[in-house]
Order: sequence, then C-alpha cells, then structure tokens
Amino acid sequence: METMKVSVLRGQHDVVTEERAVPVPAQDEVLVQVASVGVCGSDMHYYEHGRIGPHVVKAPLVLGHEASGVVAQVGSEVTSLTVGQRVSVEPGVPCRACAQCLRGRYNLCPDVKFFATPPYDGAFCEFVAMPEAFVYAVPDHVSDDAAGLLEPLSVGVWANRRSQVSPDDAVLVSGAGPIGLASAMAARAYGARSVVVADVNPHRIELSRQLGFEAVDVSQRPLGEAGVSADVLLECSGNARATWDAILAVAPAGRVALVGMGQDEVGLPLPHIQDHELTLTGAFRYANTWPTAIDLVASGRVDLDALVTGHFGLEQVEDALTAPSSDPRAVKSMVRPGRS
Ligand SMILES: [Zn+2]
Ligand SMILES: [Zn+2]
Repeated sequence: METMKVSVLRGQHDVVTEERAVPVPAQDEVLVQVASVGVCGSDMHYYEHGRIGPHVVKAPLVLGHEASGVVAQVGSEVTSLTVGQRVSVEPGVPCRACAQCLRGRYNLCPDVKFFATPPYDGAFCEFVAMPEAFVYAVPDHVSDDAAGLLEPLSVGVWANRRSQVSPDDAVLVSGAGPIGLASAMAARAYGARSVVVADVNPHRIELSRQLGFEAVDVSQRPLGEAGVSADVLLECSGNARATWDAILAVAPAGRVALVGMGQDEVGLPLPHIQDHELTLTGAFRYANTWPTAIDLVASGRVDLDALVTGHFGLEQVEDALTAPSSDPRAVKSMVRPGRS
C-alpha cells in the first residue's frame, strides 16, 4: 500500500503530520497530486475554536480546501482529463439529485461533501481523489498558487452574481482580506463603474491600492465622511460594526451581499434599509464558477498571485494557520505539500 503525508487537526491548536494510505480513485474520479493549497479563514477558525457554528471537529480532520495539483491517476470512466495535466479542484461534491442540485443551485445541497468540513477531509496532504466533474484543467501560465486560489475567487464571482453587478454599479467592498480583494477584482472584471475597498489594516489598504482600487482606511476616517455611495455592497469583513457602517453607505435601491463570516448576530440599520428599499442577500460558497474564474485569471483580469504572502510545507501547516493572526502583513498563506 502506498502512503502519503497528511497534516491532521486533532483538536484545538493540535496539528500533527501522519502517514496515511494514498486514496484509490473510483471509476469516475481522478487522483490529484496536490501542488498548492490556500489557507482559508475557515481553516484558521477550526484550528482556533474546533468548530464553525454547527460544524464541530469531533474526529481528526484534514484542513485545506483551496487546492491545485497535477493529475496522477484517472479512474476507468474518466474522459476529460489525463495524467500529468495541471488542475484546480472544486472542493465540494454535491449529491446531484436533490431539488437544489437539479435547479443548479448545488451550493445549497444539504448533502454536499465539502473538503475540510467535518467529517470530510481536505487537501493538506499529498494526494486527493475527486470526481472528474469537479476537477478543472488550467492553462500553464496560471501558477499553482493561483490555480488553488480559484476557490476564494469563486466566492467573489458568486457574490457578484448574487448582487448582479453590472457596468451601472459603484461597488463597495467591505474587508480587504483574500475574499474581499478577490471579490473586488471580480467586480472590476464584471464591469463595475467604480470599486472602493474599505478596511482597518494599513497593509491591506496599501495592497488594495497596488491592485488599483480606491481604498478607505476606516480606522482613520469613517465611510460616511469619505463620501462613499455604493449601488452594491459586497460585505466581506464579517465584522458587525463594519457591516453596519457599510450598509449606511448603500444608495437607494442598492443591493447588499453578506459574504463575510464573523459574529453570528449583527445589528442592521433598519430605517436605512427600509427607507431606501435595499435588497439584502446571503452568499454561500458558489455554483458553476470555475470556468469563469479560470478565464478571469488566464486573461490577466484578476491577479491572484498578488494575494500570496507566504509559503509553507506540510510540516509547517501550524505556522501557515497562525500567520495571518500573528503578522498584520500576512494576507494569504499557501501550503505546498510537495516541498516541505
Ligand atoms: Zn476558502
Ligand atoms: Zn443535492
């Protein structure tokens, strides 16, 4: 039996590297040798707290769901991919039979098996097996890191679709972390007439500006004073105060997509929402976004490599998980299982 290295979360603040059997791909699956995996806020949350809302880590869990790699083996029924192809992995496999799946809203499937969400293991390991339908070939000029970060970009693409961003819209993105910046880059690609990014971290403000966005440091100057008026708010901070302030900056008939996850309960400025007939929507993961995300990156309209601030081997997953909370300059850590 062939074995591989796997980074396992055993409980809060407890990560170890283990040897496990390399998965054997089923007939409709491909085996992907993992090249690069982004560390997501959700991974950090499981590490810190051992749970996210109702999802509790009760058994050892492999984190990581933003993965790219190379096809190492294909099942007998696989037709679209061949060994050696560079790929990006969409990390959730829905049931493909329920009412939500049949309507194409497979992100809402109650039976989705999603990487790094208990009890399903993720990609901080050397190999993952995945159905062919959720593995996408990427062009050679898209880096391993960018191919992994198609996952957070997909969240941004989905937020733009949910709020129907068009060339008529001034877009405000609240929160300049990886999801906020990916959402801002997607909004620009969707044709938004302007995109303003708000955050409290001066390094992230600086990065936003380097990426070509107008950026407001709301620790220095509240949004109201900055004169921001948005047709669309993509709320990616998950912070209660930031959410409140950003909603107040939304113009009449504006749309709000609540993307960021932080506190479970936040206050909302009801008179502003009611008097201006704002539309609020949730945005949960994504559906059918990979082809768009690949095209946005391959064509140079979105630069995901600009978000990467650190690389870590499988043995350093714990450092990768803590980097963004210990270093204000850190934006996106990448784990590279092949090069520890
Ligand atoms: Zn993620
Ligand atoms: Zn389903």
